[in-house]
Amino acid sequence: MLRPQKMILAGMIILFSACTTTTHITNQQPAVNDIASAKLFMAAYQQKAAEYRALCYQAYNIAQFRLDEFLQQPHSKPLAIMTDIDETILDNSPYQVHQSLQGKDYDPVTWHEWTDKASADTVPGALQFFQYAASKGVEIFYVTNRDQAERASTLNNLQKFNFPYVDNSHLKLMSATSSKGLRRDSIRMTHDIIMQIGDNLNDMNTAFEKKSVDDRLQTTNQYKGEFGYRYIVIPNPSYGEWENSFYHYKFNLTPAQKDSVLKTIVKDW
Ligand SMILES: [Mg+2]
Repeated sequence: MLRPQKMILAGMIILFSACTTTTHITNQQPAVNDIASAKLFMAAYQQKAAEYRALCYQAYNIAQFRLDEFLQQPHSKPLAIMTDIDETILDNSPYQVHQSLQGKDYDPVTWHEWTDKASADTVPGALQFFQYAASKGVEIFYVTNRDQAERASTLNNLQKFNFPYVDNSHLKLMSATSSKGLRRDSIRMTHDIIMQIGDNLNDMNTAFEKKSVDDRLQTTNQYKGEFGYRYIVIPNPSYGEWENSFYHYKFNLTPAQKDSVLKTIVKDW
């Protein structure tokens, strides 16, 4: 997802050297909070780039087009859409900004402080799409790796916007595992899942889980025909399994170590 790496890294250095008072990047030696600066840059993209908004609208427009097609087909079970929550229908970029401005990345304590507020805004296009799907009789299942302690605040946040089917039976939080495979299977016992929506390819299929960078790319090629069909992907430039794969699923690397790893995987000209 860090698409043209060289351009982005160069952009970060230029932008944050010029504009921010919270990070200190020199041209000589990467600062340890380069990663925090990158995250701030990506959060700014999520909040302020019209292109991000357009990509979200594009995704949900395609989803609605596909939904209308699926509604024309015969089905033996009630129809359902399985959707992720964070960076798919709720926008947590203010959390990312808050952490980045302190030179920090995600941590579970501050994350819970943020979700307890139940104040995340919606991802562009999401609410309209899910309300449309519900108006057509399609049930929505919210399958998220938020944990059980976040149940009340998550319901509260979604209910504030009148997302449909927001109740305990349609909210599938993380329990024993972050994998969504078992929760997907449990929905399939009673419903025909016509579409899955998420910002993380793990939201779609267990085939993407715990893979190396190259294997994730290869698996994406393998499922190419599903994107924009049964799999609808929402852009998330700030975090995700792509980032974990960059760091070989080591979650305790320092910013400096992350910076070093990044420089080993990007392609220079
Ligand atoms: Mg997500």
